[in-house]
Amino acid sequence: MSELKETFPTTFVVLDMEWNQPIPYIPSPVDPKTLPGEIIDIGAVKLRMNSQNDFELSRPLRLTVRPIYYRVMNKQVSRVINKSTNDLKCGLPFQEAYKLFLDFCGDDYVLCAWGDSDISILRSNLKIHGLSAELNDRFMDIQPFFGKVGENTTMQRSVNYAVDFYRIPQTDDFHSADKDAWYEAMVLKESLIDYFSMKQSEEKNKENFIPLSSYISNPNLTMQFRWKSDVFPTEKEADESAEKEALFCPICNEKLSEDLPWFASGHTHFSLWKCSQHGYLTGKIRAKRTPDQKYYGAGQLRFANASSAWYVKEKWQSILTGQDITERKNDSETVGND
Ligand SMILES: [Zn+2]
Repeated sequence: MSELKETFPTTFVVLDMEWNQPIPYIPSPVDPKTLPGEIIDIGAVKLRMNSQNDFELSRPLRLTVRPIYYRVMNKQVSRVINKSTNDLKCGLPFQEAYKLFLDFCGDDYVLCAWGDSDISILRSNLKIHGLSAELNDRFMDIQPFFGKVGENTTMQRSVNYAVDFYRIPQTDDFHSADKDAWYEAMVLKESLIDYFSMKQSEEKNKENFIPLSSYISNPNLTMQFRWKSDVFPTEKEADESAEKEALFCPICNEKLSEDLPWFASGHTHFSLWKCSQHGYLTGKIRAKRTPDQKYYGAGQLRFANASSAWYVKEKWQSILTGQDITERKNDSETVGND
């Protein structure tokens, strides 16, 4: 295990947050697109690998945040997290709470969350409060990691499901940030234990083995590139023309090398690219119809995280083996919506 310790990160901070949402009939002080949710509760648990190579969980951090934009409790949210408008009157200002959270994190860690919605809500809250939206440069979504090492699936599972899967005793209700963070950290711990035993047993057939580093990506790489082809009479010509676009890294402008060529799955075309400095990017093309019934190809290039890169790789595999299962829902969720 000592070799593992050197090559693997030893501190993970699992973040979970609750946020209030605007109420449709109350005029919103900010554009809900800019601020889809205002953070009211921050929970975090630190998972550390100690010198005996065991995992230790810290006590959960819980910070109640006093919202200044959405101060009336949204009923749907309230039903889930069981808070009232009155509860929103107390708590720390967001800036203060975030500073305490960063102090809790320390310097050298991998930021973790379940799914990527916490990260995008956090970013919108940082921006609206005039703070830098740059996050810790290592982020890991626990959900696909659990999926891969626990069940070998790319299905999206709930925290609840994963807690049942590992038979983690449920002593508290879900849906308070600190408790959810604790359950997610427990799932991460179990998944890491599975991962390490997998690593040892799969040393012989390394091909199937996905290193932990592939699950960790830089969440600050949010730049993307979109392009459109010329207009053509058929969808096929539009797609083919869009596929000819030369692609460059949106950050450093390096010409990208092709990891997987363009291939079609249903009406969507996928590809995978690599920048030597900034890692993997997923490409996606969909033909769009013009008002006069012609077509153009609309392309999108985005930095990949673990789940979006595998999603494309698995699609490619399933095309090769003739077992393409087109999951519309995942198309938009994992690789990105238009
Ligand atoms: Zn680059």
